[in-house]
Amino acid sequence: MAAIIGCRNLSKQYLVNDKPVIALDKVDLTVDKGDFVVILGHSGSGKTTLLSLIGGLTTPDTGEVSVEGVENWHQSDEALSTMRNQKIGFIFQFASLIPTLTVLENILLPLSFGNKVTADRTDALAILETVGLADKATAFPAQLSGGQQRRVAIARAFINRPDVILADEPTGDLDEATEREILQIFRKYNEQGTTFVVVTHNNELAATQVNPRVFTMRQGVLQEAA
Ligand code: ADP
Ligand code: MG
Repeated sequence: MAAIIGCRNLSKQYLVNDKPVIALDKVDLTVDKGDFVVILGHSGSGKTTLLSLIGGLTTPDTGEVSVEGVENWHQSDEALSTMRNQKIGFIFQFASLIPTLTVLENILLPLSFGNKVTADRTDALAILETVGLADKATAFPAQLSGGQQRRVAIARAFINRPDVILADEPTGDLDEATEREILQIFRKYNEQGTTFVVVTHNNELAATQVNPRVFTMRQGVLQEAA
């Protein structure tokens, strides 16, 4: 199977009050196309830093990341942002929808960046249907519950049909029923070939809803669970 994400010897530290804080410590990770990777770990263990590096949002002190065989930092900023826009869908912990845009407009927003026109209103409505919000296309974010807003953010991440979804605690602070629904949406896309790297705190639920490769992060060290 072809590796879709390759991280080699990734290290990163931050200086906090002149003291080094290790965020990532020599992380190696190979993700194959179609994998569903789950990353567990306490707060501060380096999970968000790892997702940011894979997504090309930050640079490491040492090491390399490649996505679909292309090294993240061996390309121009423009090529990197095109890669981000076309190949990767980001889902962050907080939905960060634009309050003055409707649900449909929020979902279509990623299409205004980059030049790959892959989707239109019809696609956006189909994705909304997938996440169970077909009747909310013209609603504004403030008219939705927290769980519904989260599902809009998920729909937005899928609009460009990314090969990889990077999700940082996408179900944090949601009730378990909503969390289960979201994982089922992920599974549907995963079965169609989308690769996932998901940070979660609820491994038990993930294990029953998807077929994950589980990793744990401890003080910047990543280890695959036996
Ligand atoms: P997690 O997502 O597992 O909670 P993070 O990747 O956010 O962990 O953080 C890993 C470590 O790096 C923590 O000690 C955190 O305080 C530190 N850190 C993360 N981002 C920054 C930053 N921008 N500046 C300083 N320290 C940071
Ligand atoms: Mg985090």
